[in-house]
Amino acid sequence: MKYLTWSRLFRAVASMVVGLAVFVLAARPAHATLSVVATTPDLANVAAAVGGNRVRVQALALPTQDPHWVDARPSLVLDVSHADLLISVGAELELGWLPTLLIGARNGKIQPGSPGYLEAAGLAELLERPAGKVDRSMGDIHPSGNPHFMFDPRQVERVAVGIGKRLSELDPEGSASYLENTRQFVTSLRQARQRWEEKLRPLKGTQVISFHRSLSYLADWAGLVVVDHIEPKPGIPPNPRHVAELIAHCKQHPVRALLQESWYASNTSELIAAQTGTRLIKLPGASDFQGGQSYVAFLSRVVDLLAGMS
Ligand SMILES: [Zn+2]
Repeated sequence: MKYLTWSRLFRAVASMVVGLAVFVLAARPAHATLSVVATTPDLANVAAAVGGNRVRVQALALPTQDPHWVDARPSLVLDVSHADLLISVGAELELGWLPTLLIGARNGKIQPGSPGYLEAAGLAELLERPAGKVDRSMGDIHPSGNPHFMFDPRQVERVAVGIGKRLSELDPEGSASYLENTRQFVTSLRQARQRWEEKLRPLKGTQVISFHRSLSYLADWAGLVVVDHIEPKPGIPPNPRHVAELIAHCKQHPVRALLQESWYASNTSELIAAQTGTRLIKLPGASDFQGGQSYVAFLSRVVDLLAGMS
C-alpha cells in the first residue's frame, strides 16, 4: 500500500515535470535570444531597435546619470556577467567605471577584443581628436577624441548599422531580421532628421556656451557655434576667474544661451545667466530607455528645447 502511494506520487510529479517542460518549450521563442548590455540608454535604444525580438537589452547608466561617472554597483556586475554582447560608447568615456565591471563580471564573451564587445566610437566619425601629445594639464580630456557623438543623428545612423552587423555575426540566423530592423530604424531617423533640421535652420550660426565639451556633435549638426565652456578644461570644475571671463564674454558678444545636460550642477550657469541675461537651457542628457522613450522621441525633445532659443 505504501509502495503504491509513493509510485502514484512519483508518476504525478513526473507528469507535472513533463507538462512544465512542454509549457516552457512552447513559451520559448523559436530562436535564440541574445542578451545585450549597453553602457548608455541611447546605445540601448539603438540596440533594441536593431535587435528587435531576438535580443533582450539592458542599459547600465540611467538617463539622469553622467555617463563619465557611473557607480559600478553589484547589480551592474551581474547584468554584465550574463551578457552575450556589451556595447560601450568607447573613446575613454566609460574609463572611470567600465573596467571595474568587466573584471567583476568574469564573462569572457564580452571582454575587449572579443566578438561580444563592441565600441560604438569605432563606428562613428570622431571630432576633436587631439593632434599632439595629451597630458593631464589639458584637463580630464578624452584622449581618443570626443565621445559625445550620440547627440548627432548622422553618427547614430552609423552606430545602428554597426550594431546590426555585429548582431548578425553573433546570431547569423537572425541576420535578415537585423538588416530589416536597421533599415526601418535608419528610415525613421532620416524622416525625423528632415523635421529637426527644418526647426533648427533659424539657429544657424547662433553662439552658445556649453557646460562640458559634450555638445560638439549637436552643435556641428545643428549649426550652433560653441564659443566657450563653463568647465575651464574638460572635466575640470568652473573656477571664479573663468566664470568672470565668461560673464565678460556674454556681456560683449551675442551669446544666445548656456546649454548643459541636466546632470551637471547649475549654480554656476545660473549665476552667469543672472549677471548677463543669457538664457540657461537644461537638456536631457540621454533618452529614457528604461521608461520606454525612443531615441527619436528623446532627440525631438532636445531639438524643441534648442528651437526655443530662436
Ligand atoms: Zn566628456
